[in-house]
Amino acid sequence: MRYYLLIFFFIIFGAANNSFSANRDESYVSPFQGTYDRAENYWLENIGSKPNNNTHSSILYFLGNVTNTMFHEFGHALISEFEIPVLGREEDAVDSFANIMMISEDPDPILDEMIVAVSDEYFEEGKFSELVAWDEHSMNEQRAYAVVCMLVGADPVGFKHAADNASMPKDRQEACAFEWEKTSVSWNKLLEEHYLSDKEKHSPKIIVKYQKPGEKYVKVAGLLEASGIIEDVVEYIGVTYKIPNDIIVSVKRCGEENAFWEPDGHKLTMCYELADKYLASAITTQSASNK
Ligand SMILES: [Zn+2]
Repeated sequence: MRYYLLIFFFIIFGAANNSFSANRDESYVSPFQGTYDRAENYWLENIGSKPNNNTHSSILYFLGNVTNTMFHEFGHALISEFEIPVLGREEDAVDSFANIMMISEDPDPILDEMIVAVSDEYFEEGKFSELVAWDEHSMNEQRAYAVVCMLVGADPVGFKHAADNASMPKDRQEACAFEWEKTSVSWNKLLEEHYLSDKEKHSPKIIVKYQKPGEKYVKVAGLLEASGIIEDVVEYIGVTYKIPNDIIVSVKRCGEENAFWEPDGHKLTMCYELADKYLASAITTQSASNK
């Protein structure tokens, strides 16, 4: 029932081998392996020179959170570009979209760690942020559990440890299977008519522009560009959906830790400040967890 990345893998990475069989063979290579390798090269030269388990987890933590944020914003983009009806809160709906997009058909050691890191980041943020009930987003801990719920719903065995680690009760874990099914089927149904077929030529483009980061964000900007993680998400969206307008993805300094979708300007913004927060969190939480 995990449609999205299945299409993602086939279209972008031409996964013509048998990587979608239930038992993945040893030759399976994650579609994010190249992105990870480029990030690691940059990391070792510019961020931390000693490769160890922390480096590996920190890189995946960073890549996972950037990817989830990009898919979240593209969730808003698809809703406005296709005028998709939204029942309930849009922020929750696009959180679900982002989480679904990062759950692969079969175990994928790179992607699985990336999506678990998204819940880790929400739990981490929840420790320091004020509880605000009026916000348009759910509270950090709820967003963390929403990730865990999609994971354990999609794969109750493979992600049981993630749900247990997050102290999610057993009956809630079981209910998540229904929630996963309902949510992923609903998104697929709403997007179905907007998928590009193999033969269709698509003219509107999604263009990524990196603005000058300034000294403070030079490393995170370098890591984003070197890894190509933003382009991975953009490429997936571009080859999957018949988006009617050109979209500009602007990676820039915003003066706040945020990311936005502007429906009128068809513009998506990823702020260096937010990516830098993920980078700092990736370094601190991953070194702390290995002590
Ligand atoms: Zn949002």
